[in-house]
Amino acid sequence: MLENGALSDHSRELRDHARVFVERVLEPAVAEMQQTQAIPKSVHQALKTAGYFGMTVPEQYGGLGLGLLDYAVILEQIGWSHRQWTLYLANNNGLASKAIGDLGTEEQRDRYLRGLATGDFLACFALTEPEAGSDAGAISTRASKAGNKWIINGRKHYISAADIADVTVVIAVTDKEKGARGGMTAFLVDSDNPGRTIARTHNTIGIDAVKQSEILFENCEVDEDAVLGEVGGGFKTAMRTLDEGRITVAASCVGHAQRCLDLMVEHARERKTFGKPLGSRQAIQWMIADSATEIHAARTMVYNAAARSDQGERISQDASMAKLFASEMISRVADRAIQIHGGAGIMNEVEVGRWWCDTRHYRIGEGASEIQRTIISRNLLGSELVSL
Ligand SMILES: Cc1cc2nc3c(=O)[nH]c(=O)nc-3n(C[C@H](O)[C@H](O)[C@H](O)COP(=O)(O)OP(=O)(O)OC[C@H]3O[C@@H](n4cnc5c(N)ncnc54)[C@H](O)[C@@H]3O)c2cc1C
Repeated sequence: MLENGALSDHSRELRDHARVFVERVLEPAVAEMQQTQAIPKSVHQALKTAGYFGMTVPEQYGGLGLGLLDYAVILEQIGWSHRQWTLYLANNNGLASKAIGDLGTEEQRDRYLRGLATGDFLACFALTEPEAGSDAGAISTRASKAGNKWIINGRKHYISAADIADVTVVIAVTDKEKGARGGMTAFLVDSDNPGRTIARTHNTIGIDAVKQSEILFENCEVDEDAVLGEVGGGFKTAMRTLDEGRITVAASCVGHAQRCLDLMVEHARERKTFGKPLGSRQAIQWMIADSATEIHAARTMVYNAAARSDQGERISQDASMAKLFASEMISRVADRAIQIHGGAGIMNEVEVGRWWCDTRHYRIGEGASEIQRTIISRNLLGSELVSL
């Protein structure tokens, strides 16, 4: 946790431990992951051994029981190595396990959280639909009651890790009249349910080791005990889950940006033009100084919001600000990294190019920049003036 604005000894220890893990396990596996567009089995196993699938899962269910700040501190280190690693961990630690941990029955927690904590089970979180992304209140996937069963019909898309997940947390409409105000419910759907199929898997402009897929629910029958939380509480569940998710996306941006900065500094020291190192030119120095300053600001926002969340505060506004700033910051920093590398920055064999490609989705996923700005301004101006 934060003590007088600085990380505690325990948090520093977790950070340093994660850094060693990154150097020993993740960095040597990046080339294989990029080449195969899949998470290597050896990395999956090492993440399991380190307990990284269950960082935020309570200890009683086999997790490490860490708070959001410690999770963010570790994610920052892992994000320094590659965004795909943090994306791989996101559902087991955040989006899905948070919903199950906060709202699940004892039986649901026992059944799912233990497997999520160890990494024996993978999860995904399905809210977005082809006709409802930013406007999550407009989803049309329907769950209807039939006797003591629920029947789910609809289509979700861009769902991270849906193709490899064992369980999906899916948000569906259970009362069309009420819609987002009490008419949506969260369900747990196992992947061996014959009514849940992967319709297609997308290729993105970045690395696709963790893929985004379209899930089709066709007369997908689940028991009453598949309801997560209260019937009608699904929209609230999704929004609360996303608050913490935004902090973790921002933490990943900070790690990603730090890597770009490290590459910039190294190149500016080594590359000579007109007989002098690039780093001796003010134009280059200022790009480096601006990047370092923006990374520091984003890191401070992330740590501050996470620490306040750990103290039980509702952090929607801070989460939106951290996600907005960090996701736009990484685009600027990665762009400067390319600029400092010149032509080499465009060549595939130099890693800075891939860092740039992999930054773009940060400004879209888990609420695009425009939506974060709307949330922030609505908190300041009121919902009479600011609506989506
Ligand atoms: C890599 C990646 C992973 C993802 N993983 C998941 C996942 O695991 N689970 C899941 O449920 N979803 C996931 N998503 C989906 C993501 O949450 C949506 O893409 C995002 O919410 C935006 O929705 P959209 O793509 O439909 O864009 P749209 O809603 O169509 O918006 C298009 C553009 O218009 C802007 N816009 C929309 N409405 C307004 C407005 N009122 N005022 C001003 N501007 C507006 C948006 O900000 C955006 O820039 C993922 C997306 C990506 C890229």
